Amino acid sequence: MRVDRVVIGAGFAGTVIAERLARGLGERVLLVDRRSHLGGNAYDEHDEAGILVHRYGPHIFHTNATRVVEYLSRFTEWRPYQHRVLARVRGQLVPIPINLDTVNRLFSLSLREDELEDWFAERAETLPRLRTSEDAVVGRVGRELYELFFRGYTRKQWGLDPSELDASVTSRIPVRTNRDDRYFTDTFQAMPREGYTAMFARMVDHPDIKVALDTDFRDLPVTLRSAGVVFTGPVDEFFGQPFGPLPYRSLEFRFETHDTPWLLPVGTVNEPDETAVPYTRTTEFKHLTGQQHPRTTIVREYPRADGDPYYPIPRPENQALYERYRALAERTPGVTFVGRLATYRYYNMDQVVAQALATYRKLADERLPATTDLPAKMPRVSIPTTSTAAAASTASAPARSGTTIP
Ligand SMILES: Cc1cc2nc3c(=O)[nH]c(=O)nc-3n(C[C@H](O)[C@H](O)[C@H](O)COP(=O)(O)OP(=O)(O)OC[C@H]3O[C@@H](n4cnc5c(N)ncnc54)[C@H](O)[C@@H]3O)c2cc1C
Repeated sequence: MRVDRVVIGAGFAGTVIAERLARGLGERVLLVDRRSHLGGNAYDEHDEAGILVHRYGPHIFHTNATRVVEYLSRFTEWRPYQHRVLARVRGQLVPIPINLDTVNRLFSLSLREDELEDWFAERAETLPRLRTSEDAVVGRVGRELYELFFRGYTRKQWGLDPSELDASVTSRIPVRTNRDDRYFTDTFQAMPREGYTAMFARMVDHPDIKVALDTDFRDLPVTLRSAGVVFTGPVDEFFGQPFGPLPYRSLEFRFETHDTPWLLPVGTVNEPDETAVPYTRTTEFKHLTGQQHPRTTIVREYPRADGDPYYPIPRPENQALYERYRALAERTPGVTFVGRLATYRYYNMDQVVAQALATYRKLADERLPATTDLPAKMPRVSIPTTSTAAAASTASAPARSGTTIP
């Protein structure tokens, strides 16, 4: 097989791009991942008990983007699912995001919907500027709710106090004055009926897509370097981290299977009390997947400083560091950076699909003349094999001549 494009990373970003390049442009694509499976962090599989689990934590699909739903629906049917989360606070399980029932139950009140906004306003602190995550919550609902729901959870999740994190971390978290207890309010909320991995398998089921798993991009044969490259792994790693590593928060997932059909009343229970348990939340997969099974599997998430890169840590100095890598990426022709790790940004799955579709359109517009029309001498793309940014910055435009997989 000859290769027109090497796509590195078989998560949402890489798989969407590979599928589009092959089906949309007729390109021959090599899709590479260092993991042993497709799907990136959205990978799911049946565990030993036969229960469908998400190996990298619960992934719930929700979006307002019709285009993204239309695209993915070519590869999967859907099972409607509205995610609900309860938080364990003062020995009770109460809805999160905070809503009318949360406040009434926790404070033994009987407020009406039209009274809750005033109740929040009486407790909210007046701050000159909402700079940090602490400011964002205290300025909206006051210190007591902040301490009950946000402080401990954030400290566990990020290993940092909310006063050290951008306001964006908690300002995204909604507070409701009605009784809506859904975690998301997007217009489309559903799970792939047979799971994410089955959907990814259909996406790459094309004669012009070759998948190479257990393969790091650095180990690719030199002969492949003349193909165009789409990189969806960590951008700092691509360049060998010449400015130092981009900081990430990691997670350890601990799975447990129980001999009972159900353990939790809803999909996820949050644990905001940092003195009670070290994990942040527990998820029971059968709620998400709709699977019928006499047993059940749950996963608990233990935040870690080291491990797989999951969440970019949103602090101004990290963003500034990323900007240096972004500038380097922009000076690296022939390589397109897409996805959450390559752009150092927390994206939901639908956002990554939208980003990948937009990137595909850009690549399609930029497409050079067909193979046979190329001049004999084409510049080559350099995939760094050593820790030198220099190698990357001297890289040049992709050839369309195709290159052969040995
Ligand atoms: C715990 C957790 C829960 C989440 N829950 C949700 C949710 O409920 N809803 C939602 O919409 N989103 C959720 N997300 C976000 C979602 O996981 C991402 O939006 C999505 O997976 C990003 O896809 P991606 O392709 O950009 O990255 P990834 O899925 O990370 O894929 C990148 C791939 O690149 C590969 N790779 C990296 N470096 C190399 C290399 N050197 N060589 C070869 N391969 C390489 C990796 O192995 C990986 O498979 C969650 C994320 C986490 C961490």
